[in-house]
Formats: sequence, C-alpha cells, structure tokens
Amino acid sequence: MDRRTADIFIAGGGIAGLIAALGFAKEGFSVVLADPAPMPGDIMTDLRSTAYLQPARDLLQTIGVWETVADRATPLEVLRVIDCAGDPTTAKTERAFEAADLGAPAFGWNLPNALMRCELAQAAAANDRIDLRFGTGFKSLLARDTEAITTLSDGTQLRSKLAIAADGRGSTLRQAAGIDVDVTRYGQKALAFHVTHDQPHNAVSTELYHSGGAFVLVPLPDFESKPASAVVWMNDGPEALRLANLNETAFSDAATQRSTGVLGNLTLTSERQIWPVITQTARALTARRVAIIAEAAHVLPPIGAQGLNTSLVDVHWLLDVARNMPDDIGTPKFLDHFAKARTQDIAARARVIDLYNRICRSDVPPVQSLRRLGLRLTHDITPLRHGIMRAGLGG
Ligand SMILES: Cc1cc2nc3c(=O)[nH]c(=O)nc-3n(C[C@H](O)[C@H](O)[C@H](O)COP(=O)(O)OP(=O)(O)OC[C@H]3O[C@@H](n4cnc5c(N)ncnc54)[C@H](O)[C@@H]3O)c2cc1C
Repeated sequence: MDRRTADIFIAGGGIAGLIAALGFAKEGFSVVLADPAPMPGDIMTDLRSTAYLQPARDLLQTIGVWETVADRATPLEVLRVIDCAGDPTTAKTERAFEAADLGAPAFGWNLPNALMRCELAQAAAANDRIDLRFGTGFKSLLARDTEAITTLSDGTQLRSKLAIAADGRGSTLRQAAGIDVDVTRYGQKALAFHVTHDQPHNAVSTELYHSGGAFVLVPLPDFESKPASAVVWMNDGPEALRLANLNETAFSDAATQRSTGVLGNLTLTSERQIWPVITQTARALTARRVAIIAEAAHVLPPIGAQGLNTSLVDVHWLLDVARNMPDDIGTPKFLDHFAKARTQDIAARARVIDLYNRICRSDVPPVQSLRRLGLRLTHDITPLRHGIMRAGLGG
C-alpha cells in the first residue's frame, strides 16, 4: 500500500479547494489534493460565473493567479436593481448603484467558473509543493490527536497534520468527521446559462426581482462579436423544470420577457444547468484534525454574490491562522482560532441571504410593496446606500 505524508490534505479540487492548495503552498506547506473528477480542461462543464469581490481578488493576487485571468475578467461597475410585477413581467421600480459612488473601480470582477477552475488547476499542477490527484477521491478518515490518516479511493493512505474538507455540498470528509448539516429548502431551482443580447451591457449587472425569485444578468466578454451575459434565473421548482425543457427559441423568448427586454432580445448560447436552491450549514466547522470550508460548510441561495466569495473568506482565515501559528497546524488551538473567525460570519450571511431570498421571491402584495420601498430607501438615502454598497463590496 502506498503511504505518503504531507502537511495538508485537501479533499476537493473545486475553485475553493484549489485556491486553498495554492495558498498553503505559497506559505511553504506541502499539500496533497484529491478529487475523483478528471483534471479540469477548457470545456465549459460549469456554466456559472462568479463576481470576485475585492477581498477575493486580493486572495487571487496573493496566490499569483489574478494576473493570469485579469484580462478575461469583466468589471461590474454598476449594479442595476429592478423590481417587477405582473404577467407579462413589468418593471415597477428601478435603481442603479455605482461603485464609483464609493470611489471603487468596480463591485467585482466576473469570471466563468470553468475558466477559473482550469487556470487554478494548471497553476497547482505546476507547483512543486502540491501533489495534485485528480481522478482519486477521499474515502475514509482516521483522526488521531497528532495526525489525520486519510485513505483515498485508489487505496493510498496519507498522513497529514490537517485534512481540509472542500469536497462540496455532499462532502464525504465532513460526513467522515461526523459533522451533520442543517438544511432549509425553498422549493426553488436556479437555471444557469449564457445569452447574447441586442444591447451592450456597459459593465452593468442587472438583477430583476419577481415572484419565484431573482433573474440576474452578469456581464461576460462578447461572444461571437455580440454582447453577452451569464444568467441565473431562479423559479419555483416545477416552473424551472418547465423552462429547462422548452426548445431554445421558446426559452430565449421566455428569458427576454422575464428580463423586461432590458438588454433587448436575449438569445440562448449555452446549455441550461439546473441547481436546487437551498441554505445548508454545517453544525461545526472543525473536528479532530479536520477543517470544513466552502460548500462543504455552507451552501447559500445564489443571490448577492455570496456563495464562493464566502468560501474564499474561509480560505483567507485558514491561511491567516496558519501564518500566525505554523507549528500548530491542525491542533485544537489552531482549529479553535479558525472556527472562532468563521462561525458567526457564516451564520450571519446565511440568515441575511435566506431573508433576502424570501423577500425577493415573494408574490404577497404587502411584501412586494415593502420590497419596492426597501429598494427606494436603500438607494435614495445616501448613508444607507453607502453602507449597503460597502457590504456588497465585501467590506
Ligand atoms: C446557479 C448558481 C450561481 C452562483 N453564482 C455565484 C456568484 O455569482 N458568486 C458567488 O460567490 N457564488 C456563486 N455561486 C456559488 C458558487 O458557484 C459555489 O459556492 C462554488 O462553485 C462551489 O465551489 P466549491 O469549491 O465549494 O465546491 P464544488 O465546486 O462543488 O467542488 C467540490 C469538489 O469536490 C469534489 N469531490 C466530491 N466528492 C469528493 C471526494 N469524495 N473526495 C474528494 N473530492 C470530492 C468534486 O468533484 C468537486 O470538484 C452560485 C451557485 C449557483 C448554484
């Protein structure tokens, strides 16, 4: 049986796991990362995109990846929010929040997940401190006071000071560590897809709220010389499934209608991927020699650009604690510091996004009126606007 040792074992080579691997390698630690999926390639297997807020961009800069993706990132300079009602969908209240209002160049920089994951995997593969094992999953854990012994799907046994669960919402490592989750289901699903449109987006991200959930257009670079956007469209589950099964022309028409024609006609240019909308939080962020991060620790509804950005705050703090106590990696003291840094923030974000989603999707007239009033107040009262925008910038 193959036996190996490393400072850090990471289960999961999604964006969060790969960034953690590069971060620990940068701090001088040896890392083994395992993921049963194949090494990410150029194919768009994930149609989601992420607006990296300033703290996430700083982290990408620290690990040396930002420079390689910066020219393909689309800045989000303006966030336009439109509250809608009726059938056909009609815009009722509209407000625009400008990053320049706070002296910031942009709210965030949008990059397709598939592109980012591919670049991260290549950077990790080229790093001498990282042993990258795509095609091999985490299987079981034996946690001792002094080390974590993990067994991989190919039978390899690995000894490390710390095992990090970054293996997604169904995390096998989290389960092996005996940590349960709390789940809230909304009966909603999110469709993720790409479109081209008649009018340029001008670096404006547009969020339209209506019963069923948010419809969000996030700017992408031009596609086949046409302005393009990534879309997340949330709906009640049966309606999302009906839309997912429409033919391409009917779907493009439905999306154009739902967008109130804000960018002209929308034309579908990708597959449609469908995701359940849930809030899921792990009941603990640590166990003996184990830290739980990213979607293994928290899954949020896809509004407010919080999901992956919250995950990267986890990575930031894990690295910060490691930097401050390099000789204590994986000890109870180390894990306590990490849990203290993250527990309340994750719970607060989960509460806020849960409430935000409930308000955004509501078709109850008083709640809709409150939503419109809230939008007007948060925009029109300058200190409130600045406070909300600072929070939106990840401050
Ligand atoms: C529609 C939609 C839109 C979103 N938009 C945004 C946005 O705009 N901004 C934002 O910040 N967030 C957004 N999110 C959230 C964000 O996309 C996710 O948080 C993020 O992609 C999850 O990354 P991850 O690395 O935690 O998990 P994953 O990407 O799920 O990676 C987990 C990895 O673990 C691997 N794995 C599974 N089992 C094992 C095992 N046994 N051993 C080892 N590895 C294993 C998997 O193969 C996978 O590669 C959105 C989410 C959705 C659904």
